[in-house]
Amino acid sequence: MGTYGGIDLGGTKIQTIVMAADGEEHRVCGTGRLPTPREGGPRAVVKAMARCMKEAVQNAGEPITQLDGVGVGSPGEIDGASGVVARAGNLPGWDGPHPVGGELSELLGVPVRLGNDVDRATWAEFVLGAGREAGSLLGVFWGTGIGGGIVLDGKLWQGRGGAGEIGHMVIRHGGARCTCGRRGCLEAYAGRAAMEARAQRKVKLGQKSKLFEIMRSRDRDRLTSGVWEEALGQGDDLAQQLIARAVRALGSGIASAVNLLDVDLVVLGGGLGTRFGEEMAARVSRAMGPHLFHDDRPPTVKVAELGDLGGAIGAALLCEP
Ligand SMILES: [Zn+2]
Repeated sequence: MGTYGGIDLGGTKIQTIVMAADGEEHRVCGTGRLPTPREGGPRAVVKAMARCMKEAVQNAGEPITQLDGVGVGSPGEIDGASGVVARAGNLPGWDGPHPVGGELSELLGVPVRLGNDVDRATWAEFVLGAGREAGSLLGVFWGTGIGGGIVLDGKLWQGRGGAGEIGHMVIRHGGARCTCGRRGCLEAYAGRAAMEARAQRKVKLGQKSKLFEIMRSRDRDRLTSGVWEEALGQGDDLAQQLIARAVRALGSGIASAVNLLDVDLVVLGGGLGTRFGEEMAARVSRAMGPHLFHDDRPPTVKVAELGDLGGAIGAALLCEP
């Protein structure tokens, strides 16, 4: 029996959980959430992580005297052994390497372990979510960008540390410019950021769309998955076109990965991936069809089950002996 903390560090929010584990039984007994500080750099972010972790402990439905450890799922380049995070991509002011593990451990008074955010979310789905019955799976997290995680024969596959970047599978030679600077990546067609940029261009060129009206009415400054859902619900042409384009891109990219790995299961997660439910999983599965080499036995495509807490749950699982 152990009680572990899990922290999912995102570009806009920090999500924490307290998890009680007893053999195969895992139970989330408290959660916390804070916005990721936009100022103050890594130090401010680490302090907010500690505060958010304490919040989850206080919110737990039972008294928690001591956590046995805290796991962190972080973006960027992670050195698990030293607890250092470098190049944490979209986190503001995070330029050089920062000793997240050491600082957090000092603030919380418990051992801290670090892992990659998408790997953690994938592992959580494998152990406790949509992939419980699978031996091998591919996690595809469809949000601002497109992240991927791979479990092969019950083990997380990290390659030399950089495996799973399905968002940067090339689906079109010389294609659209990606945020990574290269061309033709899946993310340049299906990432929320790329979809939003294209919607902006199309509207500027005179195409009618309610997307940005809906965004403003919801008091948002970006096209969130909720905005896309509402626009689709209203039959907005541009929203339909861009989602269809993204689904075609996901179909080619995921099918190519499946041709290589032949996993049992594809788990579709992330804000956009989970927003539309199993209907979207079926749509992505159909889009994969034409690109599957072994098209007589396609893998199952399922929506992630752990939702917003998946990353934090996977992070807490880092602490299990
Ligand atoms: Zn790319």
